[in-house]
Amino acid sequence: MTTRIEATRLIPGRGDVVDNGVVVLDDDVITYAGPTDGAPSTPDADVVSTDTVMPGMWDCHGHFMGVYEADVEKALTTRPQITTARSVGDAMKALDAGFTSIREVGGVGVFLAVAINEGQVPGPNIYGSGATLSMTAGHADFHSLPLEHSRALSIAAWGEDGVVDGPDQARAGVRRLLRAGARVIKIHASGGVMSQIDDPHLPQFSKEELEAIVDEATRMEVLVAAHTHGKRGMMAAIEAGVKTLEHGTYMDDEVADAMAENDVILVPTRFIVELLASKGESLGMPEYAKKKIRETAEHHRNGISIAVEKGVTIANGTDIFSSGIWGRNGEELGLMVGCGLTPLAAIETATANGPLTLGPQAPNSGQLVEGMDADVICVTGDPSADVSVLADPNNVTHVYKAGVKHKG
Ligand SMILES: [Zn+2]
Repeated sequence: MTTRIEATRLIPGRGDVVDNGVVVLDDDVITYAGPTDGAPSTPDADVVSTDTVMPGMWDCHGHFMGVYEADVEKALTTRPQITTARSVGDAMKALDAGFTSIREVGGVGVFLAVAINEGQVPGPNIYGSGATLSMTAGHADFHSLPLEHSRALSIAAWGEDGVVDGPDQARAGVRRLLRAGARVIKIHASGGVMSQIDDPHLPQFSKEELEAIVDEATRMEVLVAAHTHGKRGMMAAIEAGVKTLEHGTYMDDEVADAMAENDVILVPTRFIVELLASKGESLGMPEYAKKKIRETAEHHRNGISIAVEKGVTIANGTDIFSSGIWGRNGEELGLMVGCGLTPLAAIETATANGPLTLGPQAPNSGQLVEGMDADVICVTGDPSADVSVLADPNNVTHVYKAGVKHKG
């Protein structure tokens, strides 16, 4: 099966826009991407004309949790059969919005990926973590519940218990997540907003615990992603060898320099911070989170701007975790432009930079380059001039995943 996409402009994911471009998909691989002059003849191809052709987008920080409220505990106290069934619909919304790959850092994604990969249901490529690793009293321990209930509910909801203490348990935790199908290990290296008693400023996990997690993950060829707001948590994670920092709220020059020096990627998740700060109350956000989100939101934009100025690699991530908002993933790109990126650089965060957040587990995708996976979208309008066109799924007219047309 050959598809030939003829476009007014081709956005390759990394590098300059090509005016009058052609992309040829042969089965699941891109066999040509470049100017119309020089494109091969494809007499038997299905021909599509569009304003813009670009790589399928990546959301490198999402959660298939299958709840409607901005309350993570609801994901634990709702039957997993219900949350999983809702997540099937959420995955379809993401694909429909042009997101062909989701790095899912906590939720049912590792299981949903099985059915999607089998072709039972449509959805993006999901690279999931399963549960997430947290210390007792940390961000993914559910503080309002007795500890044993928190553990049992996590196993029911996400297949594993992620609360670990001490280097040995931390190492065993990595192994349990891998056993459930993790393609990335997600940890909590500082307190967070959506948890009852912890402080986003304070680091979580000891040096020894962080090093044990990174050592085990590295040996098993998966990368570690760390939720971090406070500076001390960010510095400790970088020193331990963590490769992506999620949120990065209290970023300063020293942290940004350390990230750039150690090739650590920032996944900012500006979308969720703005949404919760403005509409959290109507989304059922718990009382404890309201004060924390106000303070976080103030610092977060400044932190991203510092990272942009210092040349830290940024990967697109929304932190969408509720069923009402999947499909709005493209809104993050406009928010990144608001933090100082050009539209083309914002597109790079959601395309070429996506696979970088998976390290050795990365697929060969994210760019319109010969030989890469045929994950490609067609878009009405010019996102290289106005990136906000990607926020509206109606502007994404065609979605191809591994060369198979899912929309259009
Ligand atoms: Zn998250």
